[in-house]
Amino acid sequence: MGRGFDPHPRSARLNGPVAQWSEQGTHNPLVVGSIPTWPTGNFDQNSLSEEVINVPSSNKPAEFDDIFAANQAFANSFEHSHLTGTATRGLAIVTCMDSRISPLAVVGMQAGDAKILRNAGARVTDDVLRTLVLATYLLGVKRVLVMPHTDCRMAKNNEAEIHAMIDEQHGVDTRSIEFRTVDDQQSALISDVTRIRTFPLLPKGLVVVGAIYDVATGLLNSVDCNA
Ligand SMILES: [Zn+2]
Repeated sequence: MGRGFDPHPRSARLNGPVAQWSEQGTHNPLVVGSIPTWPTGNFDQNSLSEEVINVPSSNKPAEFDDIFAANQAFANSFEHSHLTGTATRGLAIVTCMDSRISPLAVVGMQAGDAKILRNAGARVTDDVLRTLVLATYLLGVKRVLVMPHTDCRMAKNNEAEIHAMIDEQHGVDTRSIEFRTVDDQQSALISDVTRIRTFPLLPKGLVVVGAIYDVATGLLNSVDCNA
């Protein structure tokens, strides 16, 4: 991985369930066996069952040490206290979860400027529409950029192949999920932009465009979605 980042830095030298998690894909790193039921109401760490392991007193697994340390540094020089939840530059970006994309930087914006909606493949799902309704009527969004990207994993395999891949590698049958893979990025983008433009609950004046972000050059290549 780039810059030597290891998301599970301790796992390689652990013999316990954390190692089991990273190798076998158990959903929760803290619990062995069945899916945990999280405590509700007044949280009391002592009430957790003995199955819960490796929970430091601070309830922060060591795998997150770098995260909380970095956050402390971030908070020490925090400059965004004045911001509100309104997108000051009126933009929403629908993009992929791909870790190469820094959506605000791509369009020269900063915290407070835009709403960012991300999922696998930058697809306009029901939840994206739900979020855009809130973002447009209540949070200042007046324009939407739908921004998939080159070299997207969601455009490299079809649904059946991805289900088969996960089953083969992890023994999990994921066929109850539709991944919304993409056969042709341009036509998928046109269809997703159209889905926003024609969604009856969104404001009539909302401006929606589509562009494919090139992860090799940083350039946005706009796509004519009026066809
Ligand atoms: Zn992607």
